[in-house]
Amino acid sequence: MTLTTLNTPNKEAFAWRSPRRDEFWRTIPGWKDVPYEDFIQFKWQEKNAITNPKKLLQAIQDLAPQSFVDDFKAGFAKAPMAVRISPYLLALINWEDPINDPIRRQFLPLASQLEPDHPMLTLDSLHEQSDAPVPGLTHRYPDKALFLALDTCPVYCRFCTRSYAVGLDTEEVEKVSIKASTDRWAAVFKYIEETPRLEDIVISGGDAYRLKAKQITEIGEKLLSIPHIRRFRFATKGLAIQPMKIIDDTDWVDAIATIADKGRRLRKEVCIHTHFNHANEVTGMSEDAMGILFEKGIKVRNQTVLQHGVNDSHEAMLEMSRAISYINVQPYYVYVHDLVQGTEDLRTSVASAVRLEKHLRGATAGFNTPMFVVDAPGGGGKRDAHSYEYYDPETGISVYTAPAVKRGQYFTYFDPVRELSPEIQKDWQDPKKQQEMINDAVEKAKKATI
Ligand SMILES: *Cc1c(COP(=O)(O)O)cnc(C)c1O
Ligand code: SF4
Repeated sequence: MTLTTLNTPNKEAFAWRSPRRDEFWRTIPGWKDVPYEDFIQFKWQEKNAITNPKKLLQAIQDLAPQSFVDDFKAGFAKAPMAVRISPYLLALINWEDPINDPIRRQFLPLASQLEPDHPMLTLDSLHEQSDAPVPGLTHRYPDKALFLALDTCPVYCRFCTRSYAVGLDTEEVEKVSIKASTDRWAAVFKYIEETPRLEDIVISGGDAYRLKAKQITEIGEKLLSIPHIRRFRFATKGLAIQPMKIIDDTDWVDAIATIADKGRRLRKEVCIHTHFNHANEVTGMSEDAMGILFEKGIKVRNQTVLQHGVNDSHEAMLEMSRAISYINVQPYYVYVHDLVQGTEDLRTSVASAVRLEKHLRGATAGFNTPMFVVDAPGGGGKRDAHSYEYYDPETGISVYTAPAVKRGQYFTYFDPVRELSPEIQKDWQDPKKQQEMINDAVEKAKKATI
């Protein structure tokens, strides 16, 4: 690094300190007359969410060329995941270059960019269902569990790991049911109560933004009443995609704040985990929303999904980390993209994660430096990306162990086929060669394991 970059002499370099506060949505033709007072209402955001090509066209009108319109129409039809985009996000897309825009890539599928799935892909690649003692509760790690409270979200992300359950059924996929239901929740709470080694619960889904205030209270009160539960987190992408709810939906925020206060008095931690993927998702509204939560003493951490063409450059990753740290969101994890149907174009290699990790570490406070993890297919859980026992960037196979989770097992992750040589790409089409490559990698991992 040169002195110039260390001293960052120009104003541009501090851009993250003044998130945009312009009326950016007015560049969308359908919303050019929408005042701030409407745009800031979460109900307006919900009502105007983009869920089909017709609504998209009504909003953007002639902003994009016909070729782009044809491309997303075909993309909608092929997508394994339901499409839902908040007006906030749609308006943050750079419509002068939507093809390369990082927000467009995450939410609006283009048929021309889809790549065939990796041959080793399965629908629930993380085995969240086979590690579930009761429907909608994944208990994989000794002292923490993942409670899938509901199956809807304020937006649907193309890359969603839970596309096996989340969102409406699509042409391509019929979903497993994890609807919000008191009976199902009762079975989950019973299991948690009867499992004293659990201390930590992730409340996810779906998205906690979609829980009603009284459901937040119901879940929160119940978990606080279980003596061995010491920590829980509500997982919501909300801050990144619809920050106005924090500003505007006082019932919801009060419900979380009341539970967090009550938890604090019991010396239990209640926090929020959110999901920013790019600095362009941070605006003055995110800053205002975070201000509210910070003043209420609610800790917010961030989990990012590493995506090709979205945030897989060290500049993009650093800019995002700085932008969210500045508004008091703590970068926690960067996930190497799971093997998810219809998202091969978004995946990156383990090598790229290790490279990014190297660039980020040291650039800012250690506690604002995310950990890069691979969620090992087959239920090994999160592993430090660089902690593989063996990795061959030629075949794209990495092998991990997880002694605290499933001792003695070996877990394999596969880089996207796009990044491999033409010969190896051909081998991946051959079931016999696939097995040979995998066996060979696992054998080498067994020899190398420390
Ligand atoms: C990610 C995850 C957790 C929480 O893990 P942390 O590393 O504490 O964030 C718990 N259970 C499951 C199944 C998970 O996938
Ligand atoms: S908000 Fe979370 S659960 Fe919902 S679609 Fe996006 S990644 Fe999946």
